[in-house]
Amino acid sequence: MKELVVISGKGGTGKTSLIAAFASLANHKVLCDADVDAADLHLIMDPEVQQRHDFQSGNTAVINRDKCTECGQCLDLCRWNAISDEFEVDPIECEGCGVCVYFCPEKAIDFPVNTCGEWYISDTRFGPMVHARLGIAEENSGKLVSLVRQEAKKLAEKKNLDLIITDGPPGVGCPVIASIGGASAVVIVTEPTVSGKHDMERVVQLAAYFKIPTLICVNKFDLNISTSKQIEAFSKEKGLIFLGTIPFDPIFTKAMVQGQTVFEYDDCSSVAQAVKKIWDKVLMAIER
Ligand code: SF4
Ligand code: SF4
Repeated sequence: MKELVVISGKGGTGKTSLIAAFASLANHKVLCDADVDAADLHLIMDPEVQQRHDFQSGNTAVINRDKCTECGQCLDLCRWNAISDEFEVDPIECEGCGVCVYFCPEKAIDFPVNTCGEWYISDTRFGPMVHARLGIAEENSGKLVSLVRQEAKKLAEKKNLDLIITDGPPGVGCPVIASIGGASAVVIVTEPTVSGKHDMERVVQLAAYFKIPTLICVNKFDLNISTSKQIEAFSKEKGLIFLGTIPFDPIFTKAMVQGQTVFEYDDCSSVAQAVKKIWDKVLMAIER
């Protein structure tokens, strides 16, 4: 089984639209939306949720006032000042370290697991999809990314599907690291701007660290042909696979607004033609 993870150094490069387009071209696959902080693949895929599960991570202390003798030890021990003089724990401040729970002489502190979001298995018109929603202001998105990837793999095994297409988070932080480890290949979608090139170089370094074959494509290449050529030259110099370029056209946005892939919106457009060529190269690169 192969997993193709599509990432970008930053948001707004057209990554999700490209993944949706790949989804409509690929056979025998599971879609995985691992961009859990800003999930938007569902806007195009229109998933019909079949299974809904809680995402649980970390713990929060809760003082049981019936057992508490107000000895004050927990107040002294909490490094995050999460416990008030009235012996109430502020759940936002509590880091879940468990020190107060361990040392409370009355065993008066409960330590329930936090529910931080939900993850889903859904049906879409392009096949099954695993996706998630992280609760507002919740952290641990790296853990949720790992979970949705694991579940996508299980689902692919169960349904005997040999490809997972994963929408990875932008940037180079913990969620991105969680999204690419063990992948068969990463596709980096970039734009021909100074910041786009810089961000792409950082993601290339990250993928190189994990020794993952890296494929590059430039969206909106005609906005700056010179920088686009520099990105292509950089790819070749680093021994990466340059997949090609996609011209600037608001069609990606228009299609997304309609909840469609670029092929559903206009199969004959120059963007659709460019994406088809890119997908053929992706298939060659992952040897399906
Ligand atoms: S350590 Fe336990 S008994 Fe003492 S104040 Fe805290 S919760 Fe109450
Ligand atoms: S679990 Fe840790 S952070 Fe939370 S209240 Fe107890 S000592 Fe403070």
